[in-house]
Amino acid sequence: MADGPVILLTGASRGMGAEIARWLAKAGTRLTLVARSADSLEKIAEEIRRLGGEGLPFSADIAGQTGCNEAVRETLDRFGRLDALINNAGLLGPLARVADANPDAWRYNIEVNLLGPFFLTHAALPHLRAAHGRVINISSGAAVKSVQGWSAYCTAKAGLTHFTRILAEEEPDVVSVAIRPGVVNTRMQEMIREEGPGAMSEDKVDYFQTLKSENKLEPANVPARAAAWLALHAPQEMSGEFVDYDDARIAEPAAAVFGDTLESVDQ
Ligand code: NAP
Repeated sequence: MADGPVILLTGASRGMGAEIARWLAKAGTRLTLVARSADSLEKIAEEIRRLGGEGLPFSADIAGQTGCNEAVRETLDRFGRLDALINNAGLLGPLARVADANPDAWRYNIEVNLLGPFFLTHAALPHLRAAHGRVINISSGAAVKSVQGWSAYCTAKAGLTHFTRILAEEEPDVVSVAIRPGVVNTRMQEMIREEGPGAMSEDKVDYFQTLKSENKLEPANVPARAAAWLALHAPQEMSGEFVDYDDARIAEPAAAVFGDTLESVDQ
């Protein structure tokens, strides 16, 4: 039975979140796995158990405060403590210029990418303070680069990154870090290739399509390992930073702690 640190991870049903969960399972952590897709979460939780961790699937839309509060409460009920919160769930769309964007879709993007992390942090803070824990926010290069057609996403990620800095100033007992994961081979990139043309500039669409065709997208397990390491080990002096996934201060110790492969301990 896993008895390691307790971590609440959003966006755990696929992509980078599922890979973060796998690395953390290897370290014997106990995880609350949050996303909307209940069936996928059940499968990931089973995998987590085989890898040496414990997974509590919790299906919720993080756009809503009630679901976020319940995710924190369920974590406390099940595990009795909370050592880290990883705000990884994210949504790219609507892919549309500002003039064409559907306001409801724009609002939902901000709710998922920015308000959800706020609701979860707000509910988790008393427990994170008690544990001298960590908040790891999965941001994006889009926080600092403007991309035509991504107005909601860029705005939300810029907000999330700045939120991290403010949290670091306000909460000296909690380490808060935002991470930029690179361009990662997940469903989000599929969406860019499928829905980008028409909304994004041709240059940008070409850029992302070429990364895929030349096999240059980052495999999700690589930035995931950096995020997993941050959740367990990010030092106090890093609090408030917006770090790159391949920053040597993170990538090197992450490789040393987790190794290169995910081997199950209990197949
Ligand atoms: P992905 O494969 O699309 O995964 C997104 C995850 O977020 C899924 O588990 C999804 O689960 C969950 N999610 C989405 N909306 C949600 C909601 N309303 N409530 C709860 N969960 C929700 O994308 P990814 O690339 O792994 O993205 C992970 C993070 O990395 C995101 O924050 C993204 O912005 C960031 N990022 C990605 C890239 C990239 O190139 N891929 C680059 C920079 C940053 P359900 O659908 O089951 O809810």
